[in-house]
Amino acid sequence: MTPGLSAGAEGRSALDVLVVGAGPAGSAAATLLARAGYAVAAVDRAAFPRDKACSEYMSPETVRLLDRLGVVPALEAAGAAAPDGTVVTAARGSRLHGRFVLAGAPPFRPTGLAVSRRVLDHALVLAARDAGARVLERTAVEELVYDRGAVAGAVVRDAGGARRVIRARLTIGADGLRSLVARRVGRRRYGRPRRLAFVAHMDGVVGMGDSAELHVGRGAYAGLNSIGGGLTNVALVVSTALAARARGRVEAFFLERLGRFPGVHERVSAGAFTRPVLATGPFAAWSGRVVADGAALVGDAADFFDPFTGEGIHSALRGAMLLADAAGEALADGGPVTARRLGGYRRARRAAFSGKWAVERLIGYGMLSPALFDRAVGRLGRRAGMADTLIGVTGDFVPARRVLNPVFLARMIL
Ligand SMILES: Cc1cc2nc3c(=O)[nH]c(=O)nc-3n(C[C@H](O)[C@H](O)[C@H](O)COP(=O)(O)OP(=O)(O)OC[C@H]3O[C@@H](n4cnc5c(N)ncnc54)[C@H](O)[C@@H]3O)c2cc1C
Repeated sequence: MTPGLSAGAEGRSALDVLVVGAGPAGSAAATLLARAGYAVAAVDRAAFPRDKACSEYMSPETVRLLDRLGVVPALEAAGAAAPDGTVVTAARGSRLHGRFVLAGAPPFRPTGLAVSRRVLDHALVLAARDAGARVLERTAVEELVYDRGAVAGAVVRDAGGARRVIRARLTIGADGLRSLVARRVGRRRYGRPRRLAFVAHMDGVVGMGDSAELHVGRGAYAGLNSIGGGLTNVALVVSTALAARARGRVEAFFLERLGRFPGVHERVSAGAFTRPVLATGPFAAWSGRVVADGAALVGDAADFFDPFTGEGIHSALRGAMLLADAAGEALADGGPVTARRLGGYRRARRAAFSGKWAVERLIGYGMLSPALFDRAVGRLGRRAGMADTLIGVTGDFVPARRVLNPVFLARMIL
């Protein structure tokens, strides 16, 4: 079904669902709701394929969700790499190596996927179109429209500057970290730590193995991840205060700061940038409310803590799946899509993500103390199976309680 778009602010909604943002969260929500037979349009201010600052690492559990969306063959055909886990090196040299296959629960497959967001996000947009959703590129949402206090669609502006209203029974905010929809309906809060990320694609980085790498320094960390085709994704995350020194000299700042990570600098300086360094942040954004009358939030628009534990793509896809289930029911009888009728989505998110949120914060705040962090990484690296368990938990296929229990936590520190 190809939905029509209402041209004016008047009249009944021609659409069931308007999705704002066609990144992983938005495209996945559009695909699933269109597959369920609803009239769906997604708008994105970008034109796909487009780049996105991201380390581009996905666990086997994320691959399971991508498989449900039908895009894995396209990613593999594009030359995606297949990471088998992660190596973490702490500031004083402690090291852990966690592998998916040893994590204590069977992963969907032995390896994850790592591929440029140009490829991933484009494949997800094509899947949404194949499912029957209309995807409008170079079309930005400028404001929401309301009907008796409920969200009823949005004012969009196309590439030619023309504005119009698109009305829908449900408006999904999947517009990322700086979400306009979340600022309007989500009681948006920003917290600590205040960090910015710089992300490069480089050719010729030496010594890359089959696992992704995280290198933690004082107040900063770096990630190295093979993304196929001989390219390495190199990410640097620093405090917002330090990031101010990058102004006007991003590549020089990037290489200088990587120089502070033993075992990274020589390997990276052998390489060459293949696209401009992208910057993004700050993170730690949280929507106190993910449903409102006529609206719901998903992906980074709902919450995003910090890139260190990765898996934002997993949260975006899983959140979209939970939302599609709840929204499908709320839309089914043709009545208004109220916050109350979407309440199942809020509860499902809490059940699915609360353990992971706690683990992310445990790691994120633990990193603020380099001595403690080094000690924990050392313990996890030496004690059989602990690093693998942690990689399974951060990879979303081992329950968080395997880490969030007194025995594991004591063995990690003592
Ligand atoms: C440095 C860094 C590294 C990361 N590394 C990883 C990793 O290795 N693995 C992982 O799983 N996750 C990682 N993440 C997290 C991951 O990138 C995000 O969680 C994920 O992209 C969220 O998807 P999304 O669809 O919610 O938002 P996005 O991917 O940001 O998509 C939002 C879309 O909305 C569009 N948009 C925004 N505003 C408007 C508007 N007003 N009108 C129309 N369109 C709009 C944008 O153009 C964009 O296409 C990382 C994040 C950062 C910052």
